[in-house]
Amino acid sequence: QKPGLELAVVSVPSYACQRHTPLLHHNTTLTDALSILAENAELGENEGRGVAFRRAAALLKSLPQEVRGAEQLRGLPCLGEHSLRVIKEVLEDGVSHEVETTTHSEQFKAMKALTGIFGVGAKTADRWFREGIHTPSDLQRSGHTLNRAQRAGLQYYDELNLPVTKPEAVAIGQIVERAVHAVLPGAEITLIGGFRRGKQTGHDVDFLITHPDEGREEGLMRKVVSWLEAQGFLLYQKTTGNSYLESKEGPARPASNMDRFERYSHPLPQTLVVVGDHAQKVSWVLGHSQCSGPRSWRAVRVDLVVSPYSQFAFALLGWTGSKLFERELRRWAVHEKAMTLSSHALYDRKRVRTLSQTHTHFKYCSGSFLYYQIRDKLI
Ligand code: ATP
Ligand code: MN
Ligand code: MN
Repeated sequence: QKPGLELAVVSVPSYACQRHTPLLHHNTTLTDALSILAENAELGENEGRGVAFRRAAALLKSLPQEVRGAEQLRGLPCLGEHSLRVIKEVLEDGVSHEVETTTHSEQFKAMKALTGIFGVGAKTADRWFREGIHTPSDLQRSGHTLNRAQRAGLQYYDELNLPVTKPEAVAIGQIVERAVHAVLPGAEITLIGGFRRGKQTGHDVDFLITHPDEGREEGLMRKVVSWLEAQGFLLYQKTTGNSYLESKEGPARPASNMDRFERYSHPLPQTLVVVGDHAQKVSWVLGHSQCSGPRSWRAVRVDLVVSPYSQFAFALLGWTGSKLFERELRRWAVHEKAMTLSSHALYDRKRVRTLSQTHTHFKYCSGSFLYYQIRDKLI
């Protein structure tokens, strides 16, 4: 009997949010392979396929030991036919043919390089790839007209693709705190995203800002951004309208399982913000654009989210990630609990029917109480 055969009989819950998924786990060779296929599917805008590979990878992360043979996986959830085939190949041959082909493909390499430019999504990257543009230098030479975000993204390409370290995240947190307290004393700033999950590096730094007096957070994002701008911290900034919460119906149930936040953008760190009834997502790249001489700063993406206090618990839960965890949590809420979860609220589909009832429901759910209740139950 091979060691670890008992894995097959361990019962594993099927929603990723019901399991413990440690950052350090026993199956990195397998999860690395599946992550490449997930990334490739996402770059090809095949979301369903991407999620399938991410789910399979998340399942492997939750296992208490290294998988040595495919027979150990019998009866486990979340492993689709395609993922199983890849896993078997890696277990038997050490590598998967499909993964090797993907990592060496010109298209995958080009799509990764081009979407690595701040302000460039899969659609744009694909269009450029078809025109023969494979690298940021190709793009620079092409003479394409770029928007401001993309110009900043190209200018700071190397820095923005350098992982942000924990000490850098802490230093940026101090800048954000200074900015926030300069315009609203008493506001509370929480590190969210990957760093809150214990990651040591990230592609950006994410912060959630709120104030214990409901309503004081209104207009905060604009003031914080102005302050940072005046101090020369922002290399790039952009504001777009918010489709969510602007409708007459007030905080409606989200149509999809991702929230529609207003989006701002800047260059050194990049930021997302949610403000009062006008949920906002601010993206910027934080730098020190007014410095001359040798630079003492680097470009970093920062996401700021501003949330009213009554929605703080949901914003905290929703912006901590990972993306798969959030997706699974919302799927679990809908299918197993008949509830709708967003980064603004939790709706009980059986009991909440009207807006006023929704507001009452909000009050009962406010603070971190519900958040901890949810999280404790699941992990
Ligand atoms: P990394 O360390 O690479 O930054 P991360 O987990 O922090 O990883 P982010 O892209 O910064 O990833 O996102 C942080 C979390 O914010 C996500 O897990 C997701 O839950 C949430 N999030 C990001 N974009 C949106 C959005 N448009 N709407 C709602 N939530 C979002
Ligand atoms: Mn992040
Ligand atoms: Mn982010």
